[in-house]
Amino acid sequence: MACNSSTCNSSGCYKGYEEEEQPKPNTKAAVNGGNSCQNLCVKCKVNEPVCCGIGGENSRFCKDCFKNNLYGKFKQAVTYNAMITPPDKVLVAFSGGPSSRVVLQFVHEMQYKAQKNYDANKDKSLPVFGVGVAFIDESSTHSFTSLHIEKAIEDIRLIVSNLAPPSKELFVVPIESIFSSDGIDGKERLKELLDAVSDVTGKEDLLIRLRILLLQKIASENGYTRIVLGTCTSRIACHVISATVKGQGYSLSADIQYVDSRWEIPVVLPLRDCPAQELNTLCSLDGSLKIVELLNGPCSGINGLVSSFVKVLQELILHRKGNSVSSCWTFKRRKSFSRVHNSKNSWEAHSISLQQGSGNP
Ligand SMILES: [Zn+2]
Repeated sequence: MACNSSTCNSSGCYKGYEEEEQPKPNTKAAVNGGNSCQNLCVKCKVNEPVCCGIGGENSRFCKDCFKNNLYGKFKQAVTYNAMITPPDKVLVAFSGGPSSRVVLQFVHEMQYKAQKNYDANKDKSLPVFGVGVAFIDESSTHSFTSLHIEKAIEDIRLIVSNLAPPSKELFVVPIESIFSSDGIDGKERLKELLDAVSDVTGKEDLLIRLRILLLQKIASENGYTRIVLGTCTSRIACHVISATVKGQGYSLSADIQYVDSRWEIPVVLPLRDCPAQELNTLCSLDGSLKIVELLNGPCSGINGLVSSFVKVLQELILHRKGNSVSSCWTFKRRKSFSRVHNSKNSWEAHSISLQQGSGNP
């Protein structure tokens, strides 16, 4: 993490790839300096900060700098790991949640800039990579009403159609089509398969596996060369713990790499360096980043338990970090520990209900 600014003291500040678009410090802010800077964004020193990053009390950004900071992390991961090259055709997996919404937005912005450069370039030597979006409809495995799922799919169509130019193909594919294209026989076969797995964690893991297989199928049938997932740092932390608990450590290091080339169509994780809190914050700050909440049901079993544990751990680390430089340390400490205590209770309650409800998953 680095920043070009000599005055930037933020540990969470990423050197933006959008430096040319950064506003320059105005005279008033530069002259005032000192204490007045404490009420300004730590990056541009112009705008008022509107959110706290996870880098502690000093990591306060305005909306634009916060977004540019996250985009910088995304772009760095893409560039350093050659995740997307000009001849590629990438398929973005969109679930409707904050992580996949942000990755879809960033891939679109990258494509839009590449298109602008292509249009401005006379020799047209570098093509612009193509982007498609895939949404997997899992309504046959959940208890969503058909009205809600229709509304969600309508929202997703609107989101994707607004990300133009360049226009993007949208694939809305039911999960059961992994078995057959007509979906009738597929529903029965999917039900049979899921019913054969008795524990809730096993069912969830099976669905995750089917989801990635279906993405591979869509990508392969439509000529895509990369699959982009919105997997963030927090999700990776959950995966590391839950895979260890389940005894699946043999493939752990391969699971969490930036580019997973074990698949026929490589799977890439450009948000691997972005924590979930930052992605959630960006979605709540930027009104255009609409998410589709209906489809993000809570996990249960081991996956849900680990997810709650990681959330509590992140809150604990965040508040310890912030409090170390705060002048009102005692007050905030009490407040943060109270919050963590409440979260801890809910985590314990979850643990107990899991033991009582699902036996020994
Ligand atoms: Zn700023």
